[in-house]
Amino acid sequence: MERISHFIAGKVVPGESGRHGDVFNPATGERTHQVDFATAEEVGRAVEAARAAAGPWGTTSLARRAEILFRIRRTLDAHRGDLARAVTLQHGKVLSDAAGEVARGIDNVDYACGIPNLLAGRYAERASTGVDVYSVRQPLGVVAGITPFNFPAMVPLWMCASAIACGNAFVLKPSEKDPAASMLLAELFSEAGLPDGVFNVVQGDKVAVDTLLAHPDVRAISFVGSTPIARYIYEEAARHAKRVQALAGAKNHMVVLPDADVQMAADAAVSAAYGSAGERCMAVSVVVPVGRVAEPLVQAITERLSNLRIGPGLDEKSEMGPLVTKEHREKVASYMDSAAKQGAKVLVDGRDHPLYGKDGFFFGASLIDQVTPEMDCYRDEIFGPVLSVVRAGTYDEAMTLVNANPWGNGAAIFTRDGGAARRFQEEVEAGMVGVNVPIPVPVAYFSFGGWKASLFGDTHIYGPESINFYTRGKVVTERWPDPSTSAVDLGFPQNR
Ligand code: NAD
Repeated sequence: MERISHFIAGKVVPGESGRHGDVFNPATGERTHQVDFATAEEVGRAVEAARAAAGPWGTTSLARRAEILFRIRRTLDAHRGDLARAVTLQHGKVLSDAAGEVARGIDNVDYACGIPNLLAGRYAERASTGVDVYSVRQPLGVVAGITPFNFPAMVPLWMCASAIACGNAFVLKPSEKDPAASMLLAELFSEAGLPDGVFNVVQGDKVAVDTLLAHPDVRAISFVGSTPIARYIYEEAARHAKRVQALAGAKNHMVVLPDADVQMAADAAVSAAYGSAGERCMAVSVVVPVGRVAEPLVQAITERLSNLRIGPGLDEKSEMGPLVTKEHREKVASYMDSAAKQGAKVLVDGRDHPLYGKDGFFFGASLIDQVTPEMDCYRDEIFGPVLSVVRAGTYDEAMTLVNANPWGNGAAIFTRDGGAARRFQEEVEAGMVGVNVPIPVPVAYFSFGGWKASLFGDTHIYGPESINFYTRGKVVTERWPDPSTSAVDLGFPQNR
């Protein structure tokens, strides 16, 4: 069985702990790899390699750092297909979707290539008589990222592109479910000329994460994953006085007003609910039709589901692949069971998909109508191809529902009414809002982040906010000797 190990100081390093996890091909159900789980000592070695690299890298000129980032960009571009294939083989999403993930990841490298401009500070000449003031931003040193299974290439790039551009050394702890993409990224960065130790990967579980959280040389933690773990990461990192951003789970609502184009709204709902088999933190998992649009919308969505092509991700005809593991599949199925028991109407049932059992962890696209907020399928994040319909009588009822939900990652409205859309974007308690756009993931030069239980910490990820997150600000107030203005003055300095 092939092993997936660590990447420390520019080399693949086999694990020594004897502990490992199983990695599956979700489309066949076959166990294809074992991934090493790091001990605290092994994590310590990765942090030490990063610490040694952080000094020289942090003082490398912006011109040279940008040059290496451009080379990384070219190398990733040349290996888009390999990265997408690595994602599909362990995550299960279809190849075209994996290619989209890789493209959105590379967008973050594009952004980071502008680092000389992004890090340029401000300068105020003659802020006071004979005194100039300027600001600089300096790297933190060693920073760490802990990433989820659902975007094994994109989310590491969300973090490390800016972190490295800012002059830090990075230690990545990827998801143990699909770790191959992170190793490929490490090898491609090296091939592009990134100095050894600037990007390291430690594979593992809670042991590795807890070691990073407590390690005195790790200055900042960036986490993306489920809400309970995000809360834990946030509290632990803060307890160890570290800078932290912990992006978490979601329940994204799509409100459809009576004046919306029903066919367009149905296309959008199906694309956003079932793409990547619903394993996206920005997936639409709840549709909220307002008033008379409910019947035609539910009908239009139902019609589309029978045409979805479900199959292995490497098959070019497939539009939706399997779920990531058997356990996850069972959890998704349990929400269909409880929805039926709790009185919802299962309109399309994916529990007994014909490919399941024979060929991996397939689950059919499912639709549940007449869902109410007390039901488990509404209260929890299902993270599968299950769309719930919660009907609302009025716009206000829809808005109350969305804002009462504990999560606030994305929210979308479908309407032709500009005034209603404007009111929605102002009132909705979510960090990313779509107007006739179902998955409003911001472009790389804006930042990404939710509200409420979708993000712990105050900084959004990638884009401009990442430059602040991965650097420390310093303001220099400077006077050059001019004996004619020198005098003893015990008062608090005032600007003159
Ligand atoms: P997860 O929380 O199970 O795992 C995320 C990371 O935390 C992994 O690296 C995992 O090894 C580690 N981890 C798991 N249990 C841990 C523990 N007890 N202690 C310390 N570390 C632990 O999440 P997942 O299932 O891999 O990913 C899916 C979740 O991520 C969903 O909830 C999804 O909404 C969320 N997500 C959020 C965003 C966002 O930007 N808000 C983006 C992608 C995914």
